[in-house]
Amino acid sequence: MIQVTSLIGTMQTVGDESRMPVVDPATAEEIGSVPVGDAADVDRAVAIASEAFPVWSGASTHDRAAVLHALADAIEANRDELADLESRDQGKPLSLARDLEIPRAAANLRFFADAIRQENGDFFDLGSQGINYTLRRPRGVAGCISPWNLPLYLFTWKIAPALATGNTVVAKPSEVTPLSAHRFSELASRAGLPPGVLNVVQGRGDTVGARIVEHPDVPTITFTGGTSTGEWIARTAAPMFKRLSLELGGKNPIIVCEDADLEAAMPTIVRACFQNQGEICTCGSRILVHRERIKAFMARFLECVSALKVGDPLDEETDMGPLVSADHRDKVEAAVARAVAEGGTLACGGGRPSTLPDRVRDGFFLEPTVLMGLDQSCATNQEEIFGPVVTVQGFDTHGEAVTRANATGYGLACSIWTRDLDRAHRMAARIESGMTWVNSWMLRDLRTPFGGMKHSGVGREGGAEALRFFTEPRSITIAHAGS
Ligand code: NAD
Repeated sequence: MIQVTSLIGTMQTVGDESRMPVVDPATAEEIGSVPVGDAADVDRAVAIASEAFPVWSGASTHDRAAVLHALADAIEANRDELADLESRDQGKPLSLARDLEIPRAAANLRFFADAIRQENGDFFDLGSQGINYTLRRPRGVAGCISPWNLPLYLFTWKIAPALATGNTVVAKPSEVTPLSAHRFSELASRAGLPPGVLNVVQGRGDTVGARIVEHPDVPTITFTGGTSTGEWIARTAAPMFKRLSLELGGKNPIIVCEDADLEAAMPTIVRACFQNQGEICTCGSRILVHRERIKAFMARFLECVSALKVGDPLDEETDMGPLVSADHRDKVEAAVARAVAEGGTLACGGGRPSTLPDRVRDGFFLEPTVLMGLDQSCATNQEEIFGPVVTVQGFDTHGEAVTRANATGYGLACSIWTRDLDRAHRMAARIESGMTWVNSWMLRDLRTPFGGMKHSGVGREGGAEALRFFTEPRSITIAHAGS
């Protein structure tokens, strides 16, 4: 059993806290427990983070970068243990955690450690009148709130730029997947992060998360999660003029044009739909295929989807593990039932796998599911499901594909598959989406802006966008004598 003993990451807390169970979604067994924090714990964490702020923000960029690199080293040295925790906590295939997500958590820290050492300031020559330069200063205590789907990957995506730029942090992982964040905070202390600089508070969203948002001494909030939670955060933070970054839900289109190289595209399209059980905000959930190719597309797509191995996440051959919780599987199953009630036909999946290895027979599994025959306006094609469920629709013209792609309240990610580069540029420019990939999906460079438009979010993370988000520009103008 994994017993997390400290309530707040970098300070060891003992006391009468209540605890919440941690359940392995592959086996439905309780594998440990974590303490549940409350508003008073957040207040304590903010006080500690505020106290640590002058020293951390005053440290040289070299020193801050050195600690972040040491923390990245620690993640890499403990990669197998972190991957195992992540897989047992979330349900994702162990190989995905070990080969992609945990290395990416270390890469997030290294990227921002290097970025602050490379940064140039702004300087403007005002001619005979004087000069102007801009100081960028950290903003104070940053509140970092993250979801359950890519626990450590997204946690570090927020914490790394916040710390690199000299902010101190109060961070809340999802209560559904608390384990890797706890281990991360232990590694941070050992890597030399001074006490109070990073404070991980475990607990529920409506208590711990809400208090971080409401706390008057947390001027910066970065949140990744559902759109309705983001709406509450925006409403609550606005009167306090907090700076907000909101990375929210999506209903992402995949557009397959008539000239797409289907054979080459298929492995990536299948991954774009079902990686991490479809529990990635950028996963495609609406496939739009040119009618000339829809028959060929469906034949090959269904062949590949049926070949996906759903099963024990600890098995190296597994492509899809269980959904994150029994509740979440209930929601996804209800969405499939609604799709059928809306007139959708199941091209494959829709149920629970009939054969599973003994160790995981009680897990929260669901087959990869493909639906056809649904109109763009129905709820299935409008609302985020966040599971292994995709719909396929045909289109006749590229204009129609773009209109349909844009016909939801979301605007996070899109992928376009075509061999005509001119068409790709024209379509990509018209797609209402924070990120569009052509002949690829999740081809990421940490310098590029990450985030969504419309109800998919406010602001961008990544690269220079993140460095700007966590700092306050102060313009200083000096007149030349006698000007
Ligand atoms: P969620 O909104 O339920 O929870 C996200 C986090 O917010 C959790 O830590 C939760 O405890 C906390 N929270 C809940 N209520 C809160 C409140 N009132 N105040 C402050 N914090 C609160 O989302 P989830 O179910 O954990 O994650 C799934 C969602 O995240 C999906 O909608 C998915 O699209 C989205 N997501 C978006 C991105 C992106 O980059 N755009 C990335 C990953 C996930």
